[in-house]
Amino acid sequence: MLVGPPGTGKTMLAERLPGILPPLSESEALETCAVLSVSGQVTDLARWRRRPFRAPHHTASAVALVGGGSYPRPGEISLAHNGVLFLDELPEFSRHVLEVLREPMESGHIMISRAARQSTFPAQFQLVAAMNPCPCGYAGDPRCQCTPDQVQRYRSRISGPLLDRIDLCVQVPPVPLAELGTPRNDRDEDSATVRTRVLKARRQSLMRAGRPNAEISTRELERDCALGAPERRWFEGALERLGLSARAYHRVLRVARTIADLDSGAALLEREYLAEALQYRRL
Ligand SMILES: [Zn+2]
Repeated sequence: MLVGPPGTGKTMLAERLPGILPPLSESEALETCAVLSVSGQVTDLARWRRRPFRAPHHTASAVALVGGGSYPRPGEISLAHNGVLFLDELPEFSRHVLEVLREPMESGHIMISRAARQSTFPAQFQLVAAMNPCPCGYAGDPRCQCTPDQVQRYRSRISGPLLDRIDLCVQVPPVPLAELGTPRNDRDEDSATVRTRVLKARRQSLMRAGRPNAEISTRELERDCALGAPERRWFEGALERLGLSARAYHRVLRVARTIADLDSGAALLEREYLAEALQYRRL
């Protein structure tokens, strides 16, 4: 979830995500291609191994998003299978549309039942969402005229259970004009550099569990996200203070595992990785 005022580059950041993700394996590419084919579209062979990126508008219907019709067709969540589903201005989507997303986010597929027939489509996507901090978009700035009540109502359009499934909330502040267009410095990284790090972390999770960290089971978590006794005590205390659910507990561990893989790859999860994973859960 990218949170920031309009014009700070949230959409641009989301569009860059497929560029740092690992290429599709051959079987993943075939699945993605098959979904496109079922929906009557053709695959661009030049982009065969590239992960799909779908960005439906907030006026999209539930059928357009999850699929449906009298002769069931895949929706955007299936067209984003093995890739990225980007929902810009998340609070503007209808509550109903957002609620139907929850089940496929958990299961990785969607079943569409019609009187005549029943179809199941794959829908394992990486959800990226963006929102303004308040209805006008300028919370924290003198320009903002929103009342606390309006801000509260705007944010509460995203239900707790949906928010619970969002692992990383990141602030995207405005870039000072003086920094735009200045020469690149040492801290700037291009997508290729970041991608190398992502591929290395991905390899580590595949070697360890045979699947990416996002997909490891709760039993595998005990094995792969081992905590020392002091770290466990600290982590449990932090979860309690933040009022996080049992689902959040497992999700934070998976994120911490990935942060560790991107960094040192250490087997034991140190406190700094847990702390970083925890701070991403705050909207
Ligand atoms: Zn405002």
